[in-house]
Amino acid sequence: MANPNEVPKYTQLFINNEFVDAVSGKKFPTINPATGKVIAEIAEGDKADVDLAVAAAKKAFHRNSAWRKLSPLERTALIEKLCSLMERDKYILASLETQDNGKPFTSALGDVMFAIMSLKYYAGWTDKFFGETIPGGDFVVQTRKEPIGVAGQIIPWNYPLVMLAWKWAPALAVGCTIVLKPAEQTPLTALHMAALSKEAGFPAGVINVIPGYGPTAGAAISEHHDVQKVAFTGSADIGRIIMQAAAKTNLKRVTLELGGKSPFVVFDDVDVDKAVQLTHDAIFPNQGQTCCAGTRTFVHEKIYEEFVKKSVALAKARKIGNPFETTTTHGPQIDEEMMNKILGYIEIGQKEGAKLQCGGKRAGNVGYFIEPTVFSDVTDKMRIAQEEIFGPVMSILKFSDIEEIIDRANDVEYGLAAGVITNDINKATKFANNVNAGSVWINCYNAVMPQAPFGGFKQSGIGREMGRDGLNNYLETKTITTKIV
Ligand code: NAD
Repeated sequence: MANPNEVPKYTQLFINNEFVDAVSGKKFPTINPATGKVIAEIAEGDKADVDLAVAAAKKAFHRNSAWRKLSPLERTALIEKLCSLMERDKYILASLETQDNGKPFTSALGDVMFAIMSLKYYAGWTDKFFGETIPGGDFVVQTRKEPIGVAGQIIPWNYPLVMLAWKWAPALAVGCTIVLKPAEQTPLTALHMAALSKEAGFPAGVINVIPGYGPTAGAAISEHHDVQKVAFTGSADIGRIIMQAAAKTNLKRVTLELGGKSPFVVFDDVDVDKAVQLTHDAIFPNQGQTCCAGTRTFVHEKIYEEFVKKSVALAKARKIGNPFETTTTHGPQIDEEMMNKILGYIEIGQKEGAKLQCGGKRAGNVGYFIEPTVFSDVTDKMRIAQEEIFGPVMSILKFSDIEEIIDRANDVEYGLAAGVITNDINKATKFANNVNAGSVWINCYNAVMPQAPFGGFKQSGIGREMGRDGLNNYLETKTITTKIV
């Protein structure tokens, strides 16, 4: 069960199936955001360690390696074994995640289950990525889908285990090898997963995990000449740096899952109470630290006042506290820096003329908690309606008709997700077809599932993860042409 005192067993780098210290000998602390206290000192990888990990991953990808010689169904069996070990260790994984990230334990447990589902989904794909036979006259023309090679994977702190599963699963399904860097704020579950991968029986070098900081370990991955692909989830600013690094070095393939400022539109033909709950659940879980969160709530003018009042009541009802308590629904932000950034945005919102309806302050003085916050009277050009806050801040805007709302929904730099609540199929379809977003949810929100592609339009990213689309990120297409003589 939940264990607030779970001691992390693994604190070193994981290279070639061994836990080792960093070449530099350096360590960094990982902090519990609910208490501000250090949980453990973690080996701090940088370029020298990334070089070793990439060399191990390259060797494991050699055409004669144990990994490359496995049949597709043997890869399936390894991924499934990993899933069963995660199931066995689910309370350990969730307890480590809650300590490291601060999310309520029940959410952390949900993340473990979602990570398992994502791996299981891709376990079924190992023998289902097909080439084609193409008419070529006197030639036999075929395509083969081949694994790309060593994949670099750089992930954020908001869903550490889920992001790891989204990166590992398609790469392992097609037979790539991996060097993953978890976020410096949340290395613990990635290291436990490294241990489970060894126990599951993945050959040495297939999976390597290098905790460390972005500009050192992260940059070493994105600049490495033997890394053929980098998959990144995080902020748009760092996404740009990763693309530049790829361009300046070996033109490695890049996929980016970045931020969002997603619109969630509520028409006046709906059950207001249900809509209030849906829009609340679109922003506040995970303390607002969700890339696809519905951060711009557009409400039809006819129901606006009632909607604001009820949204405030729900936000006030969230239970802030120790994330290991079963009654807690609202934990801390990830660190002091993010907490201050969010408080800064709340101040900006007030200065810009938005009406602070509730929250707006730090909660307590231990840990990095922020009161669930609701702004009404928000207008499109306010910074809180344009920039990603990544915190528990709901902005409610008013609208009157469908044409207007499509233009306004699209009037931001991002395009990760969007939602609409209405009983009118015409309005829902028109909105879904015209909004610039990688995922559109009708009468639901955050309905993310392993079998459906996920990713962004515009500055929310490049490429799609999950579903069949997600496999392509780790594949090259080879055309083989044979002359019939
Ligand atoms: P971040 O971009 O600062 O960090 C993400 C990762 O990149 C971390 O592992 C970090 O160490 C690494 N990194 C930092 N500098 C680097 C560099 N120079 N080279 C290589 N790697 C580097 O983002 P964050 O603050 O950890 O996460 C929050 C952001 O991530 C938000 O903007 C959020 O919207 C976005 N996000 C997007 C998705 C998505 O699926 N689209 C999912 C989660 C988070």
